[in-house]
Amino acid sequence: PSPRILIVGGVAAGMSAASRARRLNPDAHVTVFDRGEYVSYGACGLPYVLGGDVPRFGEEGWDALVARTPGQMRARGVGVRLRHEVTGIDAGAGTLSVLDRDAGRTLTEPYDRLLLATGVSALRPDWAQTELGGVHVLRDIPDAQAIEASLKGARRAAVVGGGYIGIELTEALRSRGLSVVLLEQAPEIAGRALDTAYRRRVREELERGGVDVRCGVSVEGLTGKAGRVTGVQTSDGLVRADLVIVAVGIRPNVELARAAGVRLGKTGAVAVNTRQETNVAGIYAAGDNTEAVHRVTRRRVHVPLGLSANRMGRVAGVNMAGGDATFPGIVGTAIFKCFGLGAARTGLTQAEADALGLKALSVDVESTDHAGYYKGAQPIHVRLTGEVGTGRLLGAQLVGSPGSVKRVDVVAALLGQRADVEALFAADLAYAPPFSGVWDVLLVAADQLR
Ligand code: FAD
Ligand code: NAD
Repeated sequence: PSPRILIVGGVAAGMSAASRARRLNPDAHVTVFDRGEYVSYGACGLPYVLGGDVPRFGEEGWDALVARTPGQMRARGVGVRLRHEVTGIDAGAGTLSVLDRDAGRTLTEPYDRLLLATGVSALRPDWAQTELGGVHVLRDIPDAQAIEASLKGARRAAVVGGGYIGIELTEALRSRGLSVVLLEQAPEIAGRALDTAYRRRVREELERGGVDVRCGVSVEGLTGKAGRVTGVQTSDGLVRADLVIVAVGIRPNVELARAAGVRLGKTGAVAVNTRQETNVAGIYAAGDNTEAVHRVTRRRVHVPLGLSANRMGRVAGVNMAGGDATFPGIVGTAIFKCFGLGAARTGLTQAEADALGLKALSVDVESTDHAGYYKGAQPIHVRLTGEVGTGRLLGAQLVGSPGSVKRVDVVAALLGQRADVEALFAADLAYAPPFSGVWDVLLVAADQLR
């Protein structure tokens, strides 16, 4: 029989699952429901479209981020229903309630296998729940279009939250000629990503880029005039702004799952096994709404990032179509750019290892991203962290020129194998003067740590 596979959410996890399931089982009926207007696009590119780093084409330029249009998905045999919001799951009956927003009616759709790929939503503190124009979050293409519209005539921006989105959008807004004040409530920006010294380097780069960075500041409210925001009231005084970005974190979209009896983990995201199966028979979960096992700590974590969303979706798609695939887990690898600097991390920071009660030791190495005598050499800072006693590799952080910090991947690959520091030191890494020193900075760090 041809299984009926229904998917809620059509971006990274949902579309990866749909494509895989159809490819593996061409008889499967695969339908994707999304409450939005866009599916199968790279949200990660949104700051770069706004900043002007992505050549624009299509309707106002957003098509550049679309991997496959609904028409292309349909041609591959995947049904795509836009502006269809799934409002309930009857797990006993094996049906979904789906609100067709345009027709204003609710449909009942039977399934054999169901994937929840509902992603996350941006947090909006009370002060950000406003009708004032010019106040935005950034999660999807319509959010980015709204920011683009607010950019017209805007001169001063306030970005609240110095995490990944806050940092990337700050650079984008500077590229568009706005003055930017970045407001972070923690003592330093980039809180989740890096140890303090490395976070400071990112802040200094923002300041070199002309950004007014204020840490340890709390937002108390917004001011407005004639329906449009005019400023942010903070513990540090009034910051005048005609555009306000709220980038203070996210929460997983788990309401549907919870109501259907799907178990959530301690992180608040959906708990799954390595096949992406939830505790409810026939229901799978994948992507930003879902937990993953951290291969260094073996704990369940919620790290909502693009590769894991795609990979979890792929695994779920194979299994829903009758195949057998497992998700290997993650090691907490992330990377971002900020003006002339890239920053990357994998595994655990020293602070994270300390918080887990691990006996961890870090070394810091400063070098150049390629041979010092070859033109254009830039500084690179590396922190390598290992476990005292066992010699196990625990993590790495790199801050340097944007291309140079991608070498974090070497450590990420080894962490996935639970390798020790010695194994990193023994790695036969590539060398030529335009790319690295003969002893790459990672090898120097491993030598010091072993
Ligand atoms: P989402 O992309 O959130 O998609 C979920 C979909 O589900 C949405 O379209 C939503 O409309 C739909 N949905 C939810 N509930 C329902 C319902 N009840 N009915 C119907 N539809 C529903 N990650 C990186 O690794 N690197 C980066 O550089 C990076 N940059 C980013 C930059 C920005 C600005 C943003 C916002 C994210 C970035 N990310 C990055 C994160 C990355 O985009 C996500 O990990 C990825 O999009 C997650 O995909 P997903 O399919 O799990 O969820
Ligand atoms: P985040 O958790 O990375 O950062 C939120 C920041 O806001 C933190 O620094 C936090 O201290 C601060 N904050 C919280 N409440 C505040 C308040 N009231 N006032 C001021 N500051 C406050 O979240 P995000 O930047 O919204 O990003 C969301 C997710 O998007 C990330 O977790 C990541 O998964 C993904 N993302 C990844 C990348 C990348 O990998 N390059 C880029 C963009 C987005």
